[in-house]
Amino acid sequence: MRFVVAGAVIRPAPSGAGAELLLAQRSYPADVAGLWELPGGKLAPGETAEQALVRELAEELAVTVAVGAALSEQVPLRADLTLVAHWARVLDGVPRAVEHHGLTWVDADRLAAMAESGVLVPADTAWVPELLTYLRRQ
Ligand code: C5P
Repeated sequence: MRFVVAGAVIRPAPSGAGAELLLAQRSYPADVAGLWELPGGKLAPGETAEQALVRELAEELAVTVAVGAALSEQVPLRADLTLVAHWARVLDGVPRAVEHHGLTWVDADRLAAMAESGVLVPADTAWVPELLTYLRRQ
C-alpha cells in the first residue's frame, strides 16, 4: 500500500473567534483542476507521513510546517493508494501557490459552503465534518 498525505494547515482566525484552514486550488489533472484540496502528496520510499508532509508543503507552499496528529478518516483512492491527513501549522514563511492555481484561508462557514457547492476535491470531503468541528471549537 502506498500513501498520500495531505495537510490540514490551520491558524487562529484573525478575528480571534474560531480557526481557519488553508485550501489549495489544484491546477492538474483535468478531472480535479479548479477544485480545492488540502495540499500534500505521495510519500517517497522510506519516508514517514510527517516527513513527506514537511517536504511536500515546502515544495508546494514554500513554508516550513510543524506536523501534528492524523485526522481520523483514511480515504482509499485506489486499491493500492490511501489518502491520510495530518494537522499542521506554519512555522516559517507565508504560504505561496508554487504548484497550485491559488490558496485561500477559510473559516468553518466558508468550508461548509464550499463542500455544499461541490468545489472540494471529492476524496477530501471525508474530512469536512472533523475539520468543521475543529474550526468551530477554537
Ligand atoms: O498531489 P498529488 O498529485 O501528488 O496527489 C496524488 C493523488 O492524491 C492524486 O490522485 C490526487 O488527486 C490525490 N489527492 C487527493 N486529495 C488531496 C491530495 C491528493 O485526493 N488532498
